[in-house]
Amino acid sequence: MDGAGFPETRSTCPYCGVGCGVLLRADGQGGLDVRGDPDHPANRGRLCSKGSALAETVGLEGRLLAPRIDGQDATWDDALTLVADKFRAAIDTHGPDSVAFYVSGQLLTEDYYIANKLMKGFIGSANIDTNSRLCMASTVAGHRRAFGTDTVPGTYEDLDEADLVVLVGSNLAWCHPVLHQRVLAAKQARGTKIVVIDPRRTATCDGADMHLPLQPGSDVALFNRLLVTLYEGGALDNAYLRHTQGFDAALDAAFNDKTAVTGLSDAQIDAFCQLWMRTEKVVTVFSQGVNQSSSGSDKVNAILNCHLATGRIGQPGMGPLSVTGQPNAMGGREVGGLANMLACHLDIENPDHRAAVRDFWQAPAMPEAPGLKAVDMFRAVGDGRIKALWIIHTNPAVSMPDADAVRTAIKGCDFTVVSDITAQTDTARLADVLLPATAWAEKEGTVTNSDRTISRQRAVLPATGQARPDWAILAEVGARMGFAKAFDYATPAEIFREYAALSGIAGRLGRDFDISGLKGLTDAGYDRLTPTRWPVTEARQGGRFFGDGAFFHADGKARLLPVSHRAPAAKTAPRYPFRLNTGRVRDQWHTMTRTGLSPRLSAHLAEPFLDIHPDDARAQGIVPADLVRVTSPQGRAILRARITDAVQPGQVFAPMHWTGETAPSARIDALVAPVTDPVSGQPESKASVVAVQPFAAAWYGFAVSRTDMVPDCAYWARMRTQAGWRAELAGEAPVADWEAEALRLFGLPQGETAVILDAARGIARVAVFAGGRLQGALFVAPEPVAVMRDHLATLPGQEAHGVLSGRPPADMPDPGPVLCACFNVGVGTLLRAIEGDGLLSVDAVGAALQAGTNCGSCKPEIAALLRAAQVREAAE
Ligand code: SF4
Repeated sequence: MDGAGFPETRSTCPYCGVGCGVLLRADGQGGLDVRGDPDHPANRGRLCSKGSALAETVGLEGRLLAPRIDGQDATWDDALTLVADKFRAAIDTHGPDSVAFYVSGQLLTEDYYIANKLMKGFIGSANIDTNSRLCMASTVAGHRRAFGTDTVPGTYEDLDEADLVVLVGSNLAWCHPVLHQRVLAAKQARGTKIVVIDPRRTATCDGADMHLPLQPGSDVALFNRLLVTLYEGGALDNAYLRHTQGFDAALDAAFNDKTAVTGLSDAQIDAFCQLWMRTEKVVTVFSQGVNQSSSGSDKVNAILNCHLATGRIGQPGMGPLSVTGQPNAMGGREVGGLANMLACHLDIENPDHRAAVRDFWQAPAMPEAPGLKAVDMFRAVGDGRIKALWIIHTNPAVSMPDADAVRTAIKGCDFTVVSDITAQTDTARLADVLLPATAWAEKEGTVTNSDRTISRQRAVLPATGQARPDWAILAEVGARMGFAKAFDYATPAEIFREYAALSGIAGRLGRDFDISGLKGLTDAGYDRLTPTRWPVTEARQGGRFFGDGAFFHADGKARLLPVSHRAPAAKTAPRYPFRLNTGRVRDQWHTMTRTGLSPRLSAHLAEPFLDIHPDDARAQGIVPADLVRVTSPQGRAILRARITDAVQPGQVFAPMHWTGETAPSARIDALVAPVTDPVSGQPESKASVVAVQPFAAAWYGFAVSRTDMVPDCAYWARMRTQAGWRAELAGEAPVADWEAEALRLFGLPQGETAVILDAARGIARVAVFAGGRLQGALFVAPEPVAVMRDHLATLPGQEAHGVLSGRPPADMPDPGPVLCACFNVGVGTLLRAIEGDGLLSVDAVGAALQAGTNCGSCKPEIAALLRAAQVREAAE
């Protein structure tokens, strides 16, 4: 309890699958204080930049406050009745497979459980899939093939105890920063070696001992070579192999694979294989670079093969570790959120499993076959097979591959419901019915992180507007569809107890997921629940799996799979010569509906971009800061070029966060082909083919404003700032009156303007004031505008004398783009300190400027600045 009388409450960060514990304290005015929970085993008090900025994302801005039908506010009663009636009508007329739920790793386990129960047990279809399909379905498939269940064998503690951590397709420094800090701490404490396997040189490479920039999609060939090396080097664990099947076939396939496809030298491959072979305590961490591939499941099994063949699994400091992208991706896997699973890791195609769940739920209608996976689901929406669709806490009109086609499909669906916290998303705009859901910090439930730790999310703020918990919304629709008895829940604790009881049945059927030890949890016990790693039974709690060689296939043995390299599905050709990789940036989350509310986070990378190699840029006539048009067989985008050798020739990278709300021409998933892994159904989001050309803009602009802007031009990207908004602009058509255009952009009917015009050179600068304070400023030039953006972004609301110069006064240095979000330290400030004060290390920078001393997420970038400065100095 603090001086103001508000207690601190333990909860969990709502972003990535690390699942960091947070301590929340409401300020009594709708706001929060947030700090890392020192007692949570995932983070021990640490938070990354996103977690540290959580308090900036809980306001009312953008919230959906009331149900809406056809864009008009409605009562809950009318909205729920309409949803139930429409779903019932579709089912009665077209059958249960004419409806679908598309849900999210943002859902709490209790919400997920109710959605899954309603669809699979009572509607009688398996057409429920989750955006986790885009994230780690290939890991699920690989685990099930190898282990017999979707089991994560190890724990985060293995990262502390490993002597070698191999990061495959994982930019851990940006996507799971707290785990990355943990790996770096192990390196410091015990000399843990770090290997990064990634086509790109990412921030994660800065702390690594070895970077293998393999060709996209060639991971199977590399790990097959490792398996051969382990065999030839006598590193197999023959005793452990007795707990497995399939080694000979896997080895044959490995011998037949060729490493040339990796693009790596023999020396690079040999160095990696020897290091892996000689190091007993090895953890192989893998993420989206492995999963988001048309051969993702095979990649996972190629990795698992090596751990199984050496018995390096389920022991301290050893094993494969999949890290998930979402806070409750694991909970969704456990509860049956995927279209091909039942709850508690039970199999939908197994009649005994189906019967057990049917009896437990007293379900009237159970599907006998898997439902539609995400890509197929939206195809079915597009061709009219799905008549009623319910999308919950996800934004498929942006985030699905072939996003333009998905947007068209949703728009054309007979009836679409969207439950969300945000009123205006690309998907919410398409809904017939919008349902306001409670947000993080307003809702109660559990999540499971990447190492099987179940943690509570707790409510510390009241529900906003008329928002309701997702489980309650789903249960109410279930009741109105005629299943009142089965969906009569009063609390999430009640749902959790039912789920835990069902898991006991799953345990008796030989499944790994068993938390039946929690089925008797009282409401008070649920309130108090501390982070708990499953399984939780009378016999055991937590721990690692498979160290004893006991697996979940019927014969109790693991399977090594014969896997062979398969190239990405899309082939480069003269028309589409570049391979497009997509991914995350450090300070944004998914489609930015929450992190985009934080000015601090938005200052790191304020504009969508395309990384392209210098040789390719030269060949295409692209110079720094150019805009480029990127075209694929599916769609097109306009992005800012960043010329960098972090990507290889022939490859380009673009982030996946920007939407129709923030940069309509940068919806990168519109370019991604809807091809999937044949086993997992996961889309290949990192290997589409594209063409890249300079974008011929008639003019370029940069603007800052106190209020949100309404751009209307070929390219725009807007971001929040401490003082309002900033936007990058470019147009193809000339503008006759820039003063009028500025007033329109800033949404002002009139204002006191200051204008510099040089029509002959195509230059215009317009500042608009009200009461002597800057409302907005627009800078236009025939080439990318050269002004001090980060300085200008601070000026709205100020008197801002001299704003039209576009630069700060001589005595006020430009801070540059923010690198350290925690202490708001910009690149300009860092460079001045590094070069002016002769700082030589990340620690010295931290001591001088605090940068990097809180969450540490920016440390790799500070290290890169230091290295670049040292290179410059050496060259002088
Ligand atoms: Fe949240 Fe960052 Fe922890 Fe992920 S690493 S759970 S985003 S604080």
